[in-house]
Amino acid sequence: MATAYLRGTAAHIDLDAVGENIRLFRRMCGPDVAVMAVVKADGYGHGAVRVAKSAVAHGAGWLGVATAEEGMELREAGLSVPILVLGASSPGQVRLALAARLDLTIFEDGAWNAVRWWADRLGVRPRIHLKVDTGMGRVGVAPRSVMSTWIPRLREPHVVWQGLMSHLAESDADSDMFTRRQLAVFLDVIESIRSRGVDLPPTIHLANSAAALRYPGTHFNLVRVGIALYGAKPYPSAPALTPVMRLQSRVTLVKRVDAGSTVGYGRTYVADKETTIATVALGYADGYRRVLSNKANVLIAGRRCAVVGTISMDQLTVAVPNDLRVDVGDVVTIIGPDRGERITVEEVAQWADTISYEILTGISHRVPRIFV
Ligand SMILES: *Cc1c(COP(=O)(O)O)cnc(C)c1O
Repeated sequence: MATAYLRGTAAHIDLDAVGENIRLFRRMCGPDVAVMAVVKADGYGHGAVRVAKSAVAHGAGWLGVATAEEGMELREAGLSVPILVLGASSPGQVRLALAARLDLTIFEDGAWNAVRWWADRLGVRPRIHLKVDTGMGRVGVAPRSVMSTWIPRLREPHVVWQGLMSHLAESDADSDMFTRRQLAVFLDVIESIRSRGVDLPPTIHLANSAAALRYPGTHFNLVRVGIALYGAKPYPSAPALTPVMRLQSRVTLVKRVDAGSTVGYGRTYVADKETTIATVALGYADGYRRVLSNKANVLIAGRRCAVVGTISMDQLTVAVPNDLRVDVGDVVTIIGPDRGERITVEEVAQWADTISYEILTGISHRVPRIFV
């Protein structure tokens, strides 16, 4: 394990930055709104347990995961705050979740039946969040089925109806039109429950990072913060957040090539003049995607260097500016600051024609995480 560091490629995870971002949401949302730190997919690639501990220490009252297995990992690490499984659960996962005292998101009969079955046998009272599809069109029960089908079930004595929730499809978009529509549907569901004299569950939640930042009307009493927790902007004009990951590597070779030389697989780069090429210990098996070939920049000594040639499995090549002296062992910053310059994960995502979420969760297990 320790030998992984010798390569010089690592993701440095700033746990104080997690705290900064949590504090920003706590200030913004006020004392009546709890903050859920969403740490699914191993904390968006940052390390779920360490991020969760920092988030809770700085005031996150809830944790969110995608699967029962992810929730179990947090329980085993000693985290005792409420943990909500946001995704679908198979009957086997329902059993794991209940044994680990995880809250469950329910939106279909199979998981519901498993909840009843295991509640009885495990002797627990499961905490259930009903997810309504207000327009995301992925999972969630139809609004018209809430009163007829789900409320009678959720009022059964062997379960705790803990939450009512939905998820937004377009809270990061320029237009707020669809978000308003989803909010209206959600408010209708709430009103139809209330008007029939049924008690609402204690926890009502709709907002992801983007909505938490720009639509206070979606806060209810809990916001689910994922990408912003890691310091990436959920939409371009979002307020400044504190980036958590710094991805660095090392120069492994420096050489001069003549004009007309080609570099790497497929010979996709041809030097138009005599050029200094540096090889770097990072490739697509580390999660630095091949689509970034001939598109991305990295930083060496605070200077931007273009990634040239095709990114290989374990290494890549960059063109070094003529006036920059580079040696084997020099630090290469892939994501993060170096002197006055910075490469953001949003920028890398743009070069790769994707979103920051996919870049962060794609950083592979071969890259050691160093917590600072
Ligand atoms: C992942 C997820 C979130 C967090 O979304 P961000 O855009 O990363 O803030 C919130 N809610 C649900 C249901 C999710 O699955």
